[in-house]
Amino acid sequence: MKAAGYLVRVDELGRIVIPVRVRRALDFDKGACLELFTEDNTLVIRKYGSCCTFCHSDEELTEHMDKFICASCLQKLMAK
Ligand SMILES: [Zn+2]
Repeated sequence: MKAAGYLVRVDELGRIVIPVRVRRALDFDKGACLELFTEDNTLVIRKYGSCCTFCHSDEELTEHMDKFICASCLQKLMAK
């Protein structure tokens, strides 16, 4: 993908919106787990794969209604 040159603002909570065109081009679906890191004073965001909605683990995932939950968090929820 070519550099798009989108301008976004960081809100008071530190959030930004990734433009829909960029999300579609990079296949950043709702609930996608993204990895953020800095490199040469630049923020890099890349898809990490699927991860648990609660603890961000990527092990033993179960999907339910477009969300992922790991076995450990599922067990904790079931215990309540
Ligand atoms: Zn979890």
